[in-house]
Amino acid sequence: MFKPKRVLIEKDALNYPLGERLYKQFQNMDIELIILETTRTKGIPGTTKIEKYGHGKNTLVVGVKKSLTFQTCKPSAHYQLPLVTGCMGQCEYCYLNTQLGDKPYTRMYVNIDEILGKAKKYINERNGEITIFEGAATSDPLPVEPYTHALNKAIEFFAKEEQGRFRFVTKFTNVEDIINAKHNGHTTVRFSINTDKVIKRYEHRTPNARSRIEAAYKVLEADYPIGFIIAPVFIYDRWKNEYRMLIKDLNNKLAVDKHKNISFEIISHRYTTKAKNRITEIFPETTLPMTDEERTFKYGQFGYGKYVYNKEQLLEMKDFFNEQLGSYFSHSEIKYII
Ligand code: SF4
Repeated sequence: MFKPKRVLIEKDALNYPLGERLYKQFQNMDIELIILETTRTKGIPGTTKIEKYGHGKNTLVVGVKKSLTFQTCKPSAHYQLPLVTGCMGQCEYCYLNTQLGDKPYTRMYVNIDEILGKAKKYINERNGEITIFEGAATSDPLPVEPYTHALNKAIEFFAKEEQGRFRFVTKFTNVEDIINAKHNGHTTVRFSINTDKVIKRYEHRTPNARSRIEAAYKVLEADYPIGFIIAPVFIYDRWKNEYRMLIKDLNNKLAVDKHKNISFEIISHRYTTKAKNRITEIFPETTLPMTDEERTFKYGQFGYGKYVYNKEQLLEMKDFFNEQLGSYFSHSEIKYII
């Protein structure tokens, strides 16, 4: 759970029961509390890039989602479901590092019913076709769930929607907040996992692999469809042994008769020049392997180039995961290995 050092509450948020409740809750906590007159954030300190990043990561903003036009979310879903933006985690390769500005605070919304009302309109517009919403396109929503119960509400909303589906991905473990929700199999909870070495080195302020597997077990036992995103996969000394151990640990924990409810997505490490520049600004000591000469440059579907592992390495990775998942999780679906 995210315990911020500073909370900024937009004045308009106080007009909602949730905003009012959160205001009282934060008043009783030993944190800096600031009321914002507008949606412009202020009061987050920091002079250098590193300081700004650190203070941003310790700041929570409580706001009202004004624009209810949802962003599309191709190819994995039709729309983003904007419940939260940002994340308390400090993963060095986080895709949000280049998205949220110098002070990457977490913002959560109090007008959840309005957001879900808009989702209902999008579902109705597609006339009988399934519409999928992604709840983690710009956040990891789980660390702030104990404050808003927004995921819980969204899960129960989608449970009643014949044509609506919900999915989100997390590295966090406070799943107690969602396992009792009535989900009707319409929400897929995906866990992003990696080897302990990778987590320890690069995924600061996130739970270890064992805790994530334990959380996934609880969610699977609550009969949700679940997924594992093994990402980013690195090729390093003894990488095969360590990823094999990870898959073996999953297998030991998750009952075979539930394997059909599990899917896997495997994503090799890649980076853009923009991401590399940002990472080296805020993590100057990073040991992330980002030597351009050791990678292949590839244009992505969104028009910008990425540095990926070379063809032979990717092939080796594909063979390895196909073989391991094929033997430990033969009833599960491998969505892709890229
Ligand atoms: Fe980014 Fe996910 Fe890490 Fe949060 S947990 S910092 S969203 S990669």
